[in-house]
Amino acid sequence: MSYFKTTKEADQLVAYFTDTDLCFECGCRIEGGVVRYDGYAEPGKIKGLFFHPACAALLGQRLICDGFPKRHQN
Ligand SMILES: [Zn+2]
Repeated sequence: MSYFKTTKEADQLVAYFTDTDLCFECGCRIEGGVVRYDGYAEPGKIKGLFFHPACAALLGQRLICDGFPKRHQN
């Protein structure tokens, strides 16, 4: 996960799951700072997601709340 000052600066990959200015969390357009998260869309193929910084923080906390208590389970 990386922070960029603009969506243009964050546009460094070949493929994305969403438009480069669309927040994956809230569905609103991003103007200004953006957080990009890269992950595998399929084995060997990385795609990026974009978030408002506050939405990235919210999503991160939700993932921790959901995943941390179950981290030793498969
Ligand atoms: Zn958002």
